[in-house]
Amino acid sequence: EETKSLNFIEHIVEGDLRQGLDPSKLRFRFPPEPNGYLHIGHAASICLNFGMGLRYDAPVNLRFDDTNPSKEEQEYVDAIKKDIEWLGFEWDKELYASDYFDQLYNWAIQLIKNGKAYVDDQTSEQIAQQKGTPTQAGTESPYRNRSVQENLDLFEKMKNGDFDEGSHVLRAKIDMASTNMLMRDPVIYRVLKKPHHRTGEKWKIYPMYDWAHGESDYIEQISHSICTLEFKHHRELYDWFLDQVVDEELVRPKQREFARRNLSYTVMSKRKLLQLVEEGHVTGWDDPRMPTISGLRRRGYTPMSIRNFSETAGIAKRDNITDLALLEFQIRNELNKTAPRVMAVLDPLKIVITNYPEGKEELLLAENNPEDQDAGFRDLPFSGEIFIEKDDFLEEADKNFFRLKLGHEVRLKNGYIIKANEVIKDENGEIVEVHCTYDEDSRSGSGTEASMRRVKATIHWVSIKHALPAEVRLYDRLFTHEAPDANKEVDFKTYLNPDSLKVLENAFVEPSLANVMPGDKFQFQRLGYFNVDDESTKEHLIFNRTVSLKDNWAK
Ligand code: ATP
Ligand code: MG
Ligand code: MG
Repeated sequence: EETKSLNFIEHIVEGDLRQGLDPSKLRFRFPPEPNGYLHIGHAASICLNFGMGLRYDAPVNLRFDDTNPSKEEQEYVDAIKKDIEWLGFEWDKELYASDYFDQLYNWAIQLIKNGKAYVDDQTSEQIAQQKGTPTQAGTESPYRNRSVQENLDLFEKMKNGDFDEGSHVLRAKIDMASTNMLMRDPVIYRVLKKPHHRTGEKWKIYPMYDWAHGESDYIEQISHSICTLEFKHHRELYDWFLDQVVDEELVRPKQREFARRNLSYTVMSKRKLLQLVEEGHVTGWDDPRMPTISGLRRRGYTPMSIRNFSETAGIAKRDNITDLALLEFQIRNELNKTAPRVMAVLDPLKIVITNYPEGKEELLLAENNPEDQDAGFRDLPFSGEIFIEKDDFLEEADKNFFRLKLGHEVRLKNGYIIKANEVIKDENGEIVEVHCTYDEDSRSGSGTEASMRRVKATIHWVSIKHALPAEVRLYDRLFTHEAPDANKEVDFKTYLNPDSLKVLENAFVEPSLANVMPGDKFQFQRLGYFNVDDESTKEHLIFNRTVSLKDNWAK
């Protein structure tokens, strides 16, 4: 942690400290709008803000930016808290922009009294038409020069619900000729007759984001308000709003921007993710294909892998797309060290070992994790009938196929060498079983000469008598396009990957997995890393593939 290099936001903070900012005044916040679940992009902001909190021993607030009641819900508040805690971060205070509605309202009255705000009776279309263009000044509203008293009366009526939605707004009186379009008398309040998830029916007007955000930062005495690049040109407005209210004795928040995290082969906008959920393209916000924190958790990602990913991918000044492979690398790397190795057969083919004594069974010794000295060994039951993977056998194969083929040998992992002698087919010509013989002296680890005999391949297997049935879900990227929403002309859903989920309902796993719990993680040997699904039960085991063993997409 100490030797970690600083990102450019941290350099800004360091600069402020060098300029004399009292370190005890450092305070950060993470400000989600509770209108969806957190995603891997949010993780960048969470790791940045909470990371600075840890580095400078400064408080970090969790502030729900809940100024738009039409899209916000308690479900999202709960999910957001759960995900931040799961990532391993602790916020100082849990706060809500809606708690500041009274203060914001009082400040708006002060703006009106200072001649800095006015009620506009025009429609949003009319207001938009008067905005002008970046190279041409806008037109002043006919209501711009109302008297303070008239503005106070109208704003009061807006507040009391005397006006319809869309009929009146409160605008800041700034500069209709500003080169920054956002400074051309932005709307700061609108009539909205929607109940709010926290303030209920109390308010008929709600503050706009720009007005609420900076003032909330100021109320909380946030020293550095970190947001994403699309807010860069909002900074001037942020500062203007602060100018109207700041007290020189108090901390004046500083807005700084970094590039949003984009991840290849997915979308990150909550609006689009909600669309995937509502239209049933995924099973929910926590579908393991989703780039949400809850989806990644269900897929088998760990907090550490997401934090390491956020750290490695870094904080950039310019928009970019981070390669999904970088995220996969982190979890593969971690699970390689921590996940117990087990055997599972996803697409079973029956093998009968004809010279194995009738009714006999035995226990083989299997190492739990060669990467972890302390992981120990387990007993693996073996018998004369086993399942192997269908594609590990070919009746006729060329010399480049090293797995099981007629007349040839293969080693069973932790077990014996077997040789395929005969194929049994059904009336359709489908192979239903393969008859093999085993070399009884070849058991792995038995120390015999035969146990050391080298054969071309080792394959995984489960004993039919002992194996447990399981459902296995194989996931692939959700989109076939690297940047599904980059082209505004094309609906991002055009690029949905039709093969993003493959369900194998006829899989078998070794019996040591009888008591697994949701969230337990394993390496299925030769197949990848798997996570026990949230809906898995003892009677119906479900495993989600987190990631394959190797990067299949590497060029
Ligand atoms: P969306 O466009 O999906 O609605 P948002 O930025 O409005 O995203 P918020 O809930 O307001 O979502 O975000 C909370 C915080 O997380 C903000 O500070 C925002 O800048 C940051 N954030 C959101 N998405 C990303 C991202 N992709 N990369 C980095 N930070 C992000
Ligand atoms: Mg948003
Ligand atoms: Mg937002």
